[in-house]
Amino acid sequence: VSADPMALTLLKEPGAMGADIAVGSTQRFGVPEGYGGPHAAYMACKDAYKRAMPGRIVGVSIDAHGNRAYRLSLQTREQHIRREKATSNVCTAQALLAVMASMYAVFHGPEGLKAIAQRIHRKAVRLANGLEEAGFKVDPKSFFDTVTVDVGPLQAAVMKSAVDEGINLRRVGETRVGITLDERTVPATIEAVWRAFGIRRSDEKFEAQYRFPDDMLRESAYLTHPIFHMNRAETEMMRYMRRLADRDLALDRAMIPLGSCTMKLNSAAEMMPVSWREFSMIHPFVPQDQALGYKHMIDDLSAKLCDITGYDAISMQPNSGAQGEYAGLLAIASYHRANGQGHRNICLIPMSAHGTNPASANMVGWKVVVIKTAANGDIDLDDFRAKAEKHSENLAGCMITYPSTHGVFEETVTEVTKITHDHGGQVYIDGANMNAMVGLARPGDVGGDVSHLNLHKTFCIPHGGGGPGMGPIGVKSHLIPHVPGHPNGGEGAVSAAPYGSPSLLPISWSYCLMMGGDGLTQATRVAILNANYIAKRLEGAFEVLYKGPTGRVAHECIFDVRPFEDSAGVTVDDIAKRLIDAGFHAPTMSFPVAGTLMVEPTESETKAELDRFCDAMLAIRDEIRAIENGDMPRENNALKNAPHTVEDLVGEWDRPYTREQGCFPPGAFRVDKYWPPVNRVDNVHGDRNLICTCPPMEEYAEAAE
Ligand SMILES: *Cc1c(COP(=O)(O)O)cnc(C)c1O
Repeated sequence: VSADPMALTLLKEPGAMGADIAVGSTQRFGVPEGYGGPHAAYMACKDAYKRAMPGRIVGVSIDAHGNRAYRLSLQTREQHIRREKATSNVCTAQALLAVMASMYAVFHGPEGLKAIAQRIHRKAVRLANGLEEAGFKVDPKSFFDTVTVDVGPLQAAVMKSAVDEGINLRRVGETRVGITLDERTVPATIEAVWRAFGIRRSDEKFEAQYRFPDDMLRESAYLTHPIFHMNRAETEMMRYMRRLADRDLALDRAMIPLGSCTMKLNSAAEMMPVSWREFSMIHPFVPQDQALGYKHMIDDLSAKLCDITGYDAISMQPNSGAQGEYAGLLAIASYHRANGQGHRNICLIPMSAHGTNPASANMVGWKVVVIKTAANGDIDLDDFRAKAEKHSENLAGCMITYPSTHGVFEETVTEVTKITHDHGGQVYIDGANMNAMVGLARPGDVGGDVSHLNLHKTFCIPHGGGGPGMGPIGVKSHLIPHVPGHPNGGEGAVSAAPYGSPSLLPISWSYCLMMGGDGLTQATRVAILNANYIAKRLEGAFEVLYKGPTGRVAHECIFDVRPFEDSAGVTVDDIAKRLIDAGFHAPTMSFPVAGTLMVEPTESETKAELDRFCDAMLAIRDEIRAIENGDMPRENNALKNAPHTVEDLVGEWDRPYTREQGCFPPGAFRVDKYWPPVNRVDNVHGDRNLICTCPPMEEYAEAAE
């Protein structure tokens, strides 16, 4: 069942109607339209299917002190852990928008939401009554907030009159118009809609009326968790959000060295326009002459991205890198079909590829053939050539990343793309690492036919804790007619909105405008310099797994910490958790090589912050050495017990290091210390308790008082 969560505050919930799965958009919960996005969707299912659902579920676990700890469960299903078990190609989703929608529910609570829904419905009923009393036929008989009106040959005239009133109606077929109301509709709006139909009356009959059957009314309670009952004052709501923000270790506090994620500055000047109503309050299907500013921005940004990538056209439809991959592969598949080569279904993908690559290839129905990694970390060229030859007849293409996920500019890249083309395949270059290339090299010049760009990486859109994003694709001219959603044909759309999440684009556009061409190139140089600075400062303490022939890395590098498992019983998890004590978010763990850490500083970090990070890493190396030397026990040390919380400052202390050493390692600030809200979380316990069970009813009663 596809269902609007706002309507569900009044209507019987899909689960109670026998549905197995419910989906819908949460845009309705306080998220602006933004000319199409971003906004979060939801997907809910019966208990029986929870382990087959894509994505992750917030579950409850306990930490080392036995305190409650919320955590994302079931990461074993994600593409990078077990590719063949991945249930979707989604990586970046819409976490921030989901948070926004949830805050709307937290603030209004079930009673407030129900009152909003009732007001929306009553207005829709009043509007329909007025139209019916004037002789118009309104459908359907039962509705929540949306009706269509039969206007016969007057469709264009009615829509035009509405525009003159400042209102857009929706064209439905040849003879009908659609009208949807929301909580912002006021009597003057309803009267203006009536006027567009030639009805002159005032909206003043305010009795409560329902236009849906009694057995569709909701009977069950919802949003029973105390949090939906304790933030009714704006002051409390503000403090609640502040408390949550304080628990987060975000970019406004410290460098986030997540390799491949490109966690760079999202400047305030770039982000301010996102909330301007000129960008945020536009419906995706307004007549084009009402969105000329958007058109100018999208055209100009597309031209700049073509210039940067060496491609001939850009599609702004995909909402993430992975969706861009899917769209790009659909374009390749369509191209092969148009050439009578529809049987081509083999995709060559290196072992080191991001998990979304094989998952996307699976989604378009292709077979993935994995290419080995050579000793130096590069694509094994002999293996690539052999497999391209073997599958020559059916080769659809290859998916490669440049510079590679190993953080190296592979010098054989043009050979790889040539081999693919020689066998009739098309080349997909994953553009997630564009931060190492902008201004210096272009995927379109090294043989790429199509690439996605992660605007939420290289082009400054913030990650939002897992989205929103924008993953536009650039294509060479021969693929233009095959791009999904292109008006001239090709495959079907990958997003319902023509430009994906366009209200994010002012960020990337103003980034390009403010930096200018030289500035963008300089940013790339500094990003590469910063990564090499870290690699050099940590030399001797941590081994860089892969380097290019000149001994340098690209914009990120992989530190091999696997030897410490043997020498000290220290795992990649222990190091990541210990970095939290020093006030750093963990680097990327176990991607693309299990048991390693991948660090990407970006150009945004100062030398002082890079040094703070290196100091923290070197201090961790000293702690590992103390275990190796037998000066610290293998099971009870600051690494194994990390992260430390304020709970560790009080109560019993039976550890072979001091509280001071535990809580304030080198790199940690004293006054501005980041305190994690939980100690080490029990992962096994968490995966056994998938759904967060609500606190007992007594707590709920107290909170409601
Ligand atoms: C981030 C990333 C992706 C996926 O992009 P999303 O926007 O998260 O879907 C694909 N490939 C690489 C190399 C990446 O780093």
